[in-house]
Amino acid sequence: KGQLEFHDVSFAYPTRKEAPIFQNLSLLVPAGTIMAVVGPSGSGKSTLVSLLLRLYDPDAGFITIDGHDIRDLNPYWLRSQIGTVSQEPVLFSCSIKDNIAYGAEDPDTVTTEDIYRAARVANAYNFIQGFPKGFDTVVGEKGVLLSGGQKQRIAIARALLKNPKILLLDEATSALDAENELLVQEALERLMDGRTVVVIAHRLSTIQSANAVAVLDQQHVAECGQHAELLGNRQ
Ligand code: ADP
Ligand code: ADP
Repeated sequence: KGQLEFHDVSFAYPTRKEAPIFQNLSLLVPAGTIMAVVGPSGSGKSTLVSLLLRLYDPDAGFITIDGHDIRDLNPYWLRSQIGTVSQEPVLFSCSIKDNIAYGAEDPDTVTTEDIYRAARVANAYNFIQGFPKGFDTVVGEKGVLLSGGQKQRIAIARALLKNPKILLLDEATSALDAENELLVQEALERLMDGRTVVVIAHRLSTIQSANAVAVLDQQHVAECGQHAELLGNRQ
């Protein structure tokens, strides 16, 4: 479960109808795959995410999750099925524990074990436990310094907490250095667990762990295939 499909989607932003972002874009992301979406800046990678979250609806065509048009789904239910991690992790000035629990549909019912499990999968458990106050460490408190990679892994743990069928990582590692990128990538590989993961990226190194790659270009998917195939095409 978690198959995602764009069917002949056309879309232009309401303020720029003369410059369509997508024309008849079709893309199938089978359940349980990691699909990387790459493409030059401005090719519509973030727009793809906005359409999935229904910040906008397509002008033509439609998007389905497990065969259901997302416009027919309850918006709250839709959001509960999709976890998102963006380029700039947003952490609140409260404990790391509460930052992670924020991802849950009902934060009051979240157990410490749930939080630890999400942190482990996100490769964050060890560094958090390494802080003197552990999971009670308050983000932004004097003396508490979190690196970009640490913040990103906390954001991933939060996205995981609601156990989404679909996880969207929008340039989630592009602001990180190589070492942190690797740690986030390791987390990504463990996220699978039957989940569908869509990784928006502009660096090739980010997509090593993807099963499939879609290249966005000139308003539609220019190429879609296995990772190795596409890399081969480029040589
Ligand atoms: P990418 O993520 O691949 O860099 P985007 O989806 O952000 O591409 O943007 C695709 C195009 O849509 C760009 O030309 C961008 O300037 C334009 N765009 C993005 N957001 C809006 C908006 N809210 N209104 C109008 N144009 C937009
Ligand atoms: P399927 O027939 O694919 O197994 P379900 O029987 O789980 O799907 O759900 C039927 C429809 O109701 C689908 O469109 C599903 O996405 C939607 N749906 C499931 N649970 C909820 C919910 N709690 N709130 C709103 N819509 C839901």
